[in-house]
Amino acid sequence: MSDSSMGTLYVVATPIGNLEDLSPRAARVLGEVALVAAEDTRHTARLLRHLGLSVPMLSLHEHNEAARVAQLDARLAAGESIALVSDAGTPLISDPGFVLVRELRARGRRIVPLPGPCALVTALSAAGLPTDRFLFSGFLPAKGSGRRGRLEALARREETLVFYESPHRIRDTLADLATCLGGRRLVLARELSKAFETFLDGTAAELLERMATDPDQARGEFVIMVAGAPPREDEEAAAVDADALLAAMLVEGVGVKQAAAVAARVLGGGKKAWYARAQALKDGD
Ligand code: SAM
Repeated sequence: MSDSSMGTLYVVATPIGNLEDLSPRAARVLGEVALVAAEDTRHTARLLRHLGLSVPMLSLHEHNEAARVAQLDARLAAGESIALVSDAGTPLISDPGFVLVRELRARGRRIVPLPGPCALVTALSAAGLPTDRFLFSGFLPAKGSGRRGRLEALARREETLVFYESPHRIRDTLADLATCLGGRRLVLARELSKAFETFLDGTAAELLERMATDPDQARGEFVIMVAGAPPREDEEAAAVDADALLAAMLVEGVGVKQAAAVAARVLGGGKKAWYARAQALKDGD
């Protein structure tokens, strides 16, 4: 079969909150395809209704994606074009679609991405944290131990760290960020492009305090952005400063345990490590 008779899979980004963010190109393509493969057909039905379109839909989510490949491939081979959409934003970005795109690309099908909303890029564009290099790590594990393990593994990365988070876990995640990444600067982007869009800036502990006084700040959808680790040379200089800080506290009569707790809170890292360092400084006088 020649290329021109083959259908195209369009990967279509849809709004993350504000329907005006749907591109005219996306609206046109959604009206032209034979089929829309949607993460949740009821959700996408609302978008299509808003556009005045009536297009056949098929569900495509993490549980049936692999099983849908052959079916969708056959329709492309028959010359039909298909739009892939998720509930919000860009498909495949913490959303279904990866298996389908990988398999169709392996089969030589034509795949055309339609650029558009994506929560992580939208959040980064207004956060004021470095964007020349960033590390997107999707959703952190749901369980505390797994979450802390992932954060420990990322603690030395110098890029801005970006995570997605739901309102159910935002407080637990901020608490773990306070434990694992200490006094780093965070920017929390909430409800992007919606009525209650908010950017909060501070340490994880400060943001938790803010949520305690204003529980609305814990509602909605979040992108968490965390300043990367200081570059190694800065870190060495900071280590010297850390020793000076610990030594000053000890000279002023602060106990080893409290000095370690202050250092962990201000500079980040585990209390145990700071305790050992403070004890060594004390022993060495
Ligand atoms: N594919 C989407 C994208 O391109 O951004 C992401 C889908 S993922 C299942 C949903 C998560 O994205 C939410 O839990 C939240 O972390 C983030 N998100 C989506 N919309 C958002 C918004 N309007 N404001 C802040 N975060 C949002």
